[in-house]
Amino acid sequence: MNKNDGELAAVETIECPVCKGENPPDAVFCGNPECRKALGEFKYVIEEVAANTSRIERLADTVTSFTGQPHFVTAHLACSPPGCS
Ligand SMILES: [Zn+2]
Repeated sequence: MNKNDGELAAVETIECPVCKGENPPDAVFCGNPECRKALGEFKYVIEEVAANTSRIERLADTVTSFTGQPHFVTAHLACSPPGCS
């Protein structure tokens, strides 16, 4: 009996941390079509984006509030080169 049998048995399936579904040891994403969680130790890029959504939304709100000001529209029109429209 090999000493590593216990370790190999432990990785026969990967349990999804979100839906607790079992996945093959070489699975990259959860097999549950409604879950699709990345199973590695690093977050999937979509999960990173979702985690930063609030920061991006705050930036978008800041840009929107700045560009919505009348002086921004005036400056934008004043700085437009002639003949470009
Ligand atoms: Zn899952």
